[in-house]
Amino acid sequence: MTTPILLDGAATAKTIRAEVAAAAKALTAQTGIVPVLAAILAGNDPASQTYVAMKERACARAGIGSRTYPFAPDASEAEVTDCLAMLNADPSVHGILVQHPLPKHIDEPAVLSLMDPAKDVDGIAPISLGRLVAGLPAFQSCTPAGMIELMRRYQLPIAGKHAVVVGRSVILGKPLALLLLQENATVTICHSRTPNLAEITKQADILCACVGKAEMITRDMIKPGAVVLDAGYNRVPGKTHDVGDVDYAAACEVASAITPVPGGVGPMTIAMLLRNTLTAAQSASARTASALLSSPLSHEVGEGSVHSTGGGGDLL
Ligand code: NAP
Repeated sequence: MTTPILLDGAATAKTIRAEVAAAAKALTAQTGIVPVLAAILAGNDPASQTYVAMKERACARAGIGSRTYPFAPDASEAEVTDCLAMLNADPSVHGILVQHPLPKHIDEPAVLSLMDPAKDVDGIAPISLGRLVAGLPAFQSCTPAGMIELMRRYQLPIAGKHAVVVGRSVILGKPLALLLLQENATVTICHSRTPNLAEITKQADILCACVGKAEMITRDMIKPGAVVLDAGYNRVPGKTHDVGDVDYAAACEVASAITPVPGGVGPMTIAMLLRNTLTAAQSASARTASALLSSPLSHEVGEGSVHSTGGGGDLL
């Protein structure tokens, strides 16, 4: 078998971040609008704190404003939902991220169901997921969208392929399966109750590992020539960096294309979050412009003073 194509998520994400930065700069120049992403960070989960700090740095580099609303681990659900309502109503905020996981005493789906879908740039609120099921426009969950985008940028065909997704979480496995279906793959979803997992993964043209178990996908579970996408991030004692769900070295002997960990799927998540925030700001700007044009005062405002963004248009 030849060496597989390395699906370089770090380089691809860098390209996307540069594209977002250029478009954000153009939007600000044309309309004065600076896209803004707000994050609600409740509790003291170290991984969440790291992710939100990374997101703040990435926003700053892309010309996107970021605000973080921290809450103590014992914050009440009402405190969090009050903050979400304030952000929903604030026209200067275009995207909202409710960092997962919320503290256990807070009903996360109930909180997310209050999110304005036009600001759900993380794509995990129930209404966004429902719209995805219905085939309607909605923001797509960032990690699954990043996995699809990575394949698109490497021109790897999806239509007609058999995609096997191992894992069915609401933030990852399920939306990924739906996105693959939308791309006309034939999709099989596996989970912890799937018997004979290897028999199914061995049939995959596109194998997506979304489990959270270090190196559980071994060489014998992969069809020769398969595209292997590994979303897993696992701390392993004694290793200096996180490892994926796939035994990478062994998988490289059979796969035709593969994501490394780190540097594969991971960096794509923030890139998609930035892109969704830009789209939300472009859509908000387009809505404001069309409201101005249709208002009775519009002829007094004059066409020249209302700028089109040429951007994302109305998402919802
Ligand atoms: P999760 O909520 O724990 O879901 C794990 C899924 O794997 C569940 O659906 C579970 O099945 C399934 N599973 C567990 N053991 C299995 C087994 N032996 N065989 C087959 N399926 C099994 O985890 P998650 O939030 O989706 O995250 C999964 C991994 O992706 C983690 O390593 C996480 O760190 C990583 N992740 C990375 C990014 C990123 O790169 N930016 C983003 C999100 C997640 P059941 O449903 O039956 O329990």
